[in-house]
Amino acid sequence: MKPEKVPFYAGMEAGGTKFVCMVASGPEDVRAQTSFSTTKPEETLGRALAFFMAHEPFGAMGIGTFGPCNLNPDSPAYGRLSTSIKPGWKEANMLEPFRQVFDVPMGIDTDVNVAALGEYTWRAGQGTEVLLYLTVGTGIGGGGIINGRMMHGLFHPEMGHIRVPRFEGDRFPGICPYHGDCLQGLASGPAMEARWGKKAADLPIDHPSWRMEAYYLASAVNNYICTLSPNRIILGGGVMNQKHLFPLIREEAKRLLNGYIQLPLIMKKIEEYIVPPGLGDRAGVLGAIALARQKAEGR
Ligand code: ADP
Ligand code: ZN
Repeated sequence: MKPEKVPFYAGMEAGGTKFVCMVASGPEDVRAQTSFSTTKPEETLGRALAFFMAHEPFGAMGIGTFGPCNLNPDSPAYGRLSTSIKPGWKEANMLEPFRQVFDVPMGIDTDVNVAALGEYTWRAGQGTEVLLYLTVGTGIGGGGIINGRMMHGLFHPEMGHIRVPRFEGDRFPGICPYHGDCLQGLASGPAMEARWGKKAADLPIDHPSWRMEAYYLASAVNNYICTLSPNRIILGGGVMNQKHLFPLIREEAKRLLNGYIQLPLIMKKIEEYIVPPGLGDRAGVLGAIALARQKAEGR
């Protein structure tokens, strides 16, 4: 007997550096995929639109975007970016160009909420009640899943803009245009580059920058553990390609918690608690496929 035909969905990860577009039913069944640099809104959204038009039909569409972005379906500005730090993208609408062309259910959310949904659906986040996904790249962003739903509320989480105590002796003013030395201002990829005069990827692993980076990320993780009580924390994004950061962050997070949370998962098995994305660099775009599937199912 032939297996039942699996519906395909359109997924788009809109990042500040690049866009990734995919038509798939899941990680094991990808019909088409492409990626290209983020340039101007008309050009980049136009390329995405052309890709999806060439790969119809699909049953629904999901988008994970950099932000901040209006996620209120009742607002006339639904899908529109606001204070984006990406030049030229302020007020670009990430959803509208697709709504005008495709008559299918659509969903849009933050890149990190969507990546969390991908991991929750297929990999490192399965079975969690509270899941946190943090990306450390051009910016720092955090999102997640609580009881199967992406985190919303007043707006959407902006976990990269929290304040963390200074690493001893660090006088770097930080590069966040809004806050200077918030977490993103101190510890994003561009912050590392501005502080050390070298791209993060070119800093040797014994460079003092990594201990400082691990301290800032562990401080943030400590704060999220104490506020959100996540069952698992996934760290992704370009900077986390430096795999040696994981043990440094885990040890530093344990040191900062200082035995206060007496759970074996933290005390003895923290390598199963603070983990890389199981979908690797496809977490974002496959999360968009998972979001599309939710929309197709009316969730
Ligand atoms: P974006 O956040 O724009 O979607 P990324 O997650 O790839 O994209 O983040 C890009 C940032 O990550 C840049 O600041 C870059 O310097 C840094 N980065 C990318 N690859 C590496 C690497 N292998 N090691 C350290 N930093 C990296
Ligand atoms: Zn900030």
